[in-house]
Amino acid sequence: MIDPFGRTISYLRVSVTDRCDFRCTYCMSENMTFLPKKDLLTIEELERLCTVFINLGVKKLRLTGGEPLVRKNIMNLIASLSRHLISGKLEELTLTTNGSQLSKYAQQLADHGVKRLNVSIDTLDREKFKKITRWGDLDQVLAGLNAAKSAGLNIKINTVALNGTNNDELKDMLTWAGNNGYDMTIIEVMPMGDIGSETRIDQYLPLTAVRNDLSKHFTLEDIDYRTGGPARYTRIKETGGKLGFITPLTHNFCESCNRVRVTCTGTLYMCLGQDDDADLKTPLRESEGDEAIITAIREAILRKPKGHDFIIDRNTAVEPVTRHMSVTGG
Ligand code: SAM
Ligand code: SF4
Repeated sequence: MIDPFGRTISYLRVSVTDRCDFRCTYCMSENMTFLPKKDLLTIEELERLCTVFINLGVKKLRLTGGEPLVRKNIMNLIASLSRHLISGKLEELTLTTNGSQLSKYAQQLADHGVKRLNVSIDTLDREKFKKITRWGDLDQVLAGLNAAKSAGLNIKINTVALNGTNNDELKDMLTWAGNNGYDMTIIEVMPMGDIGSETRIDQYLPLTAVRNDLSKHFTLEDIDYRTGGPARYTRIKETGGKLGFITPLTHNFCESCNRVRVTCTGTLYMCLGQDDDADLKTPLRESEGDEAIITAIREAILRKPKGHDFIIDRNTAVEPVTRHMSVTGG
């Protein structure tokens, strides 16, 4: 799959559910209306769709959400996708998770060939954690991280930089990550979906400021490490760990984009920061063979835009992307 700008699409992110056991303030409003369960692709349909993408050249597959590990029978999907790791068609199967279910699932994930996880933690302060996630429990997440570590999984911590909430804590989190052997990525808050009473401009903290601040405490060495994604990486000399910055607002990261995203209802988004989509559920359900799905995917890839349209400022009253991050997955 090659898009009109010559970018090879080899990375698929699948949001397996829009539901979550947390309600992070920057991601969701407290009273979310979730999709009716009947609209969701079944585990078997998700598996079939992922397999079509793998046959079209996807080498890296990330399951996300909502919280992927709260989807019923998620381990059946992972077990079944692991056959593509064994055959060598798929190079990596991984997840982005809030960590709440890792005590239960970490060992099974490792047994099915998962080697790496992204675990999202925005603070190590119990009360702040409760405030940010509304429903989360830090100790449960830390226990999950330990289970993942014991199962031999490599861990990257995802932290959203939140103005006035965790900016004073990022350097301690980086030290903690380094001490535990975790890499870390700091993410700029993105304007996606209505989040209720809070406003984006109050949450938004440009990573240029974060980087300046961290440079006072650590030696940040730019490195060439790339995942085809938006993160730009540095090596922290003092800890040896990698630190990535995802800066959709201060820098545009689209020129090397290698990814597309599928939602739990089978909608394909060619860009996280644009609304254009393609329905894959209808061709999936209407025919037993895969020809119609393949045609729909190929047509959609030809519409992959050059880049996103994110903007956060006081004059922009409406979120440029109306769906929540939990719909398309981070
Ligand atoms: N529930 C899982 C988790 O939190 O890791 C997976 C889904 S979550 C939507 C994926 C990532 O997106 C998380 O790291 C989360 O912090 C991030 N995220 C959610 N909403 C965001 C926003 N508006 N801007 C930037 N990052 C966001
Ligand atoms: Fe749930 Fe992840 Fe969104 Fe937090 S960021 S509400 S854990 S989907």
